[in-house]
Amino acid sequence: MSEKTLNTFEIVQQQIKDACTALGETQEVFEILKQPKSCIEVALPIKMDNGETKVFMGYRSLHNDAIGPGKGGIRYHQDVCIDEVKALSAWMTFKCGVAGIPYGGGKGGIIVDPRTLSIDEIERLSRAYIRAIAPVVGEQIDIPAPDVNTTPQIMGWMVDEYSKLQGKNTLGIVTGKPVAFGGSLARFEATGYGVALMMREAFRAKGKDIRGSKVSIQGFGNVGRFAAIYAEEMGAKVTAISDVSCCLYNENGLNVKKLYDYVNLPESKNMIQGFKGAEQEFDRNKVFEFDVDLLAPCALENAITSENVNSIKASIIVEGANGPTTPEADRIINEKGIFLVPDILANGGGVMVSYFEWVQNLQNYYWSFEEVQQKQEVKMVKAFNDIFYLKEKHNVSMRVAAFMMAIKRVADAMRARGIVK
Ligand code: GLU
Repeated sequence: MSEKTLNTFEIVQQQIKDACTALGETQEVFEILKQPKSCIEVALPIKMDNGETKVFMGYRSLHNDAIGPGKGGIRYHQDVCIDEVKALSAWMTFKCGVAGIPYGGGKGGIIVDPRTLSIDEIERLSRAYIRAIAPVVGEQIDIPAPDVNTTPQIMGWMVDEYSKLQGKNTLGIVTGKPVAFGGSLARFEATGYGVALMMREAFRAKGKDIRGSKVSIQGFGNVGRFAAIYAEEMGAKVTAISDVSCCLYNENGLNVKKLYDYVNLPESKNMIQGFKGAEQEFDRNKVFEFDVDLLAPCALENAITSENVNSIKASIIVEGANGPTTPEADRIINEKGIFLVPDILANGGGVMVSYFEWVQNLQNYYWSFEEVQQKQEVKMVKAFNDIFYLKEKHNVSMRVAAFMMAIKRVADAMRARGIVK
């Protein structure tokens, strides 16, 4: 199969297979994990601002709930498809397993380019979606959150709509909410902060220091932005950042906070292009090629392929996005001895703080920003060290080690429940 037509669901199935083999896990565990427990498809008729009705397709997949309720974001993107949602829900199972939080995996998505919708249309679509999936989600069943192109405001609308259906406030039904409405402090920053922590740990594991290092980041959405901000705070020079519009480069390090302010200006349209603090603007694909110590793909799936992997000069890759590396590129990365921190570990900070948010909602007692970040740091550094230990012990990649750890946890829960022997 050509790399261009790679199906993310087949990729995750192969990853599960590889880890089950490395673990010596039973065939029945593989048979259960290779597809979601359930996946629903919903058609959402939405009244557009011009009075016409348009139908949008949405999905929610619950991959596994042996350890606890499903957990995972909702993506709004024109390329969403059922197989992608299924794959992403499986990655969530393993991400939660790696993070050591009591959840299984879920994921949702709507086929829509939200840039083509007005804010009112997005609100109607979001409310319609949660109404449609209400029968399969719940505080103890499956708990959605933000993902690509979905915001705390969208989560707020969903909780409001779901609470109306229930006739009571159900804050724990969705995480990643606005802080004014049950959200957790430090949740908005959490995925990027976690990516920066994993950058720091990766340097440390290689006997190096993040301070003074050069970093290149693909993507300047919620993940890339905060990864860049915290990496800079930890002493790295973020020399290159790309988004869909272009790639910015500054040999001495871009001023990330200024860039953050720039993309928030209405005239920048949320894009980095036109920022004055860069030495040069390049084609966005150049972001993979710079002479840096660390590369962090923080955009979408299949970004690092057999076509661009050989131009990577970084000796460390930290996957901020879900599934950014194709299996063929992954093989080459391993052959070259590049140290790769896999997505299910590197970007697990978001769901980890979602868990903290849910705990705070259920107990109705809220923590400080520092408390949340400190708890996140302790848990993520532990996960990194545990996986590093497994990698050394079994002489496998960090990715296989991460899958092994997660699959063992899920399989143990399934055994404890009597689902498998
Ligand atoms: N969408 C994020 C992820 O892929 C966060 C999920 C969550 O917070 O539940 O990890």
